[in-house]
Amino acid sequence: MVAGNWKMNKSPTEAKLFAGLLASKIGKETVMDIVVFPPAIDIPFVVDVLKDTNIGVGVQNVHPKEKGAFTGETSLLMVKDLSVEYVLVGHSERRHIFGESDEFINEKVKAVLSAGLRPVLCVGETLEEREKGLTKNVLERQIRLGLFGLEKEDVVNTVIAYEPVWAIGTGVVATPEQAEEAMAFIRSLLGELYGMETAENVRILYGGSIKPENFDALIRLKNVDGGLVGGASLKESFIELVEIAK
Ligand code: 13P
Repeated sequence: MVAGNWKMNKSPTEAKLFAGLLASKIGKETVMDIVVFPPAIDIPFVVDVLKDTNIGVGVQNVHPKEKGAFTGETSLLMVKDLSVEYVLVGHSERRHIFGESDEFINEKVKAVLSAGLRPVLCVGETLEEREKGLTKNVLERQIRLGLFGLEKEDVVNTVIAYEPVWAIGTGVVATPEQAEEAMAFIRSLLGELYGMETAENVRILYGGSIKPENFDALIRLKNVDGGLVGGASLKESFIELVEIAK
C-alpha cells in the first residue's frame, strides 16, 4: 500500500489538477492499494476525478460523534456520503499540535470501524523518547490503547502506520534497521494481542521523510507493507514511489 497524506496543502483547484495527473499515470495500478488523503474541503473534487480509477481516497481526520455542536469538525456520516474508504487516526500532528489523547484516538478508531471504513492508526516515538530508550514502551502504549476493545475482525481492517516523529518532515529517514526493529515489534505485539494469523494480515506502513531515493530499501523490509508519504506525495515523486513499490 502506498498512501499520500497531503496534510494542509492544495486548494480544490490544485487538488483536482493533481488528482487528474495521478489518474492518468497510476490510475490503473492493480498490484497495490494506492490511497490519497486530501484536505477535507478537497475530497468531493478528488473523489470525482478518481472515480473510475484504482486510487482510493481517505480523509485526514474525523470527529467520532455522528453530528452536533462540534464547530469545525467533520463527521463519519459526511465522509461516508462520498466514496471515502480510509481515515487517518492519531497522526503525530493531531497528537502533538492538537493534543489528542490515546483515549480519544481509540474512540475515533472504533467510530471509523463501526461506520464500515478503515482506520489508519498512526503511532511513533519522539526523538526524546527514542533517546531515552522508550520507543517500544511508547509504541506498545499507543497500540494497546488505540486498539482497545477491538475484535480480531476489526483489527484486520485496521492499518497501522509507524511514523517516528523525528522522521516526519525532517528529511531524517529511519534507517532500514530502525524501521524493521520497530515494525517487527509492532507485528509481534499484535500477535500477542490478537494471534499471529491476525497480526500477519494487518498492514503496517512506514512513514517519515520517504523519498524515491530511500523508499526501495524500506519497502523491501520483512515487516513493511507499504508507505505513508507526506511531502513527497504532493508532487510527481508520488508516482515514482508507486513504481518503486511494484
Ligand atoms: P513526510 O513524508 O513529509 O516526512 O511526512 C510523513 C507523514 O507525516 C505522513 O503522514
